[in-house]
Amino acid sequence: MANRAPDSVRLLAVSKTCDAACIAEARACGQMAFGENFVQEAVGKIRELDRADIEWHFIGPIQSNKTRAIAEHFSWVHSLEREKIAHRLNEARPPHLPPLNVLIQVNVSGEASKSGVAPGAERALAIVIRSLPRLKLRGLMAIPEPTADIALQRTRFALLRRLQLELQASDSAVDTLSMGMSDDLEAAIAEGATLVRVGTAIFGRRDTSTREK
Ligand SMILES: *Cc1c(COP(=O)(O)O)cnc(C)c1O
Repeated sequence: MANRAPDSVRLLAVSKTCDAACIAEARACGQMAFGENFVQEAVGKIRELDRADIEWHFIGPIQSNKTRAIAEHFSWVHSLEREKIAHRLNEARPPHLPPLNVLIQVNVSGEASKSGVAPGAERALAIVIRSLPRLKLRGLMAIPEPTADIALQRTRFALLRRLQLELQASDSAVDTLSMGMSDDLEAAIAEGATLVRVGTAIFGRRDTSTREK
């Protein structure tokens, strides 16, 4: 429908609040990449599963006291928005592992309460990340405000795509556009997402009462 080749969009299964058995089941069905928001919960499951054939992505807000655990257990981080956190992840990335793949989170909806750098501010952060040898800048990520207005969804995703094209012009390693969740993934794919982050549409509704604080 969006005129996209099927293999140009990857699926990240967002497994927050799914237990290790549920992740193992999805892995057995062929799913390789899993996204987690809560460090402690994720590390417990990563250790329990202990599988090198699962690619772990950290997609939640990053507290500075959690950077070591993230750098040791994940191969991707989607939610980088601060220089200080970039430095800490770089220092904590173990030498026996390849550089940590990172995406800069951009606040495409302009709401004061939302995470991410302001559109345009990703350029300065990108320069910092490129100077850090244990990090590899792969692209951008956004979580627009929830809306049923498809035209508005597309406007937000189109903005992220434009910023991504600018970054790509000076950096051929930039190849990943992480946008689209269960409720807006069609619009994201139409606007060029290369990685959609889907939880509810795969695993069902989450029980939010069990969330880590
Ligand atoms: C939970 C979460 C998702 C998945 O959301 P669904 O609506 O369940 O598909 C995607 N991205 C981030 C950053 C999330 O926290």
